[in-house]
Amino acid sequence: MDSLNEVSLIAPCGMNCGVCMAYLRERNKCPGCRGPDINKSTSCTKCSIKNCASLQKNGAGFCFGCDTFPCDRLKRLDKRYRTKYNMSMVENLENIRRYGPAQFSMNEKAQWSCSKCGGTICVHKGYCYSCGEPLCNRT
Ligand SMILES: [Zn+2]
Repeated sequence: MDSLNEVSLIAPCGMNCGVCMAYLRERNKCPGCRGPDINKSTSCTKCSIKNCASLQKNGAGFCFGCDTFPCDRLKRLDKRYRTKYNMSMVENLENIRRYGPAQFSMNEKAQWSCSKCGGTICVHKGYCYSCGEPLCNRT
């Protein structure tokens, strides 16, 4: 996979679709937030962040481009992910702003790579999608 595709896997909210179980699964694979609306859950197609009017206007393509960043909507999502999956959208967005989307996705790739088989650790499952190795090398 080339880096351009990986960059397009970073959703406006800072989610890396590349580590989402809907993207990693073999059947009915989701193309990612920025991809076409096929094989997506309703929560993704009807997502209030993806469909947010100020996001579409801010020109950055990410939530950090908004004057209201981080807005309550994003903070709620961020809290849910921090609590359930130990991952922060706001932190991701700050890193994307600081390093740029290309560098961010390279960092992400390293962070979510399975130390055992090189597969991808799924953020939702907390283990490698290829071999089942649990997430252990994340800080
Ligand atoms: Zn593995």
